[in-house]
Amino acid sequence: MSDEKKPAKQPKEDADITFYHPELLEVPEDGSPPFLKGYRCMGCGQLDFPKLSTCPTCWGEQFDMVPLSRRGKLYSVTDIYIGQAGMETPYIFGYIDLPEDLRIFAQLEGEPQSYQCDEEVELTVGTIRINRDGLPITSYKFSKLVPA
Ligand SMILES: [Zn+2]
Repeated sequence: MSDEKKPAKQPKEDADITFYHPELLEVPEDGSPPFLKGYRCMGCGQLDFPKLSTCPTCWGEQFDMVPLSRRGKLYSVTDIYIGQAGMETPYIFGYIDLPEDLRIFAQLEGEPQSYQCDEEVELTVGTIRINRDGLPITSYKFSKLVPA
């Protein structure tokens, strides 16, 4: 008898979705919109994203977490056709300028060549890549504004 099947390797149904880094993104359990976590130096007030271990201005090591604006303006955008392992191509990367004077590097949701510089974009949460176990890694992305 050779029709014995090996069990297929499949992700566990109850596997946790893996966040890329919990210090970057907060997804409130009460259903309110997700936000990026900025960190304001308690010594000099400089705001940074992502979190730094030491403030580059005053060498302070104490920070307050500050929820960042969910909307920003697209400074630059590029479509990626030859990507990293675990990332389905094509995908889109861009720099987003937030009102807090922070420039965020992030993936963008949608079709290539569908974004233009200076376009307003909004924070969202989605799969940024697939890990070696076939599980989605969820983190922040930006998307087009949903028409009201
Ligand atoms: Zn500082």
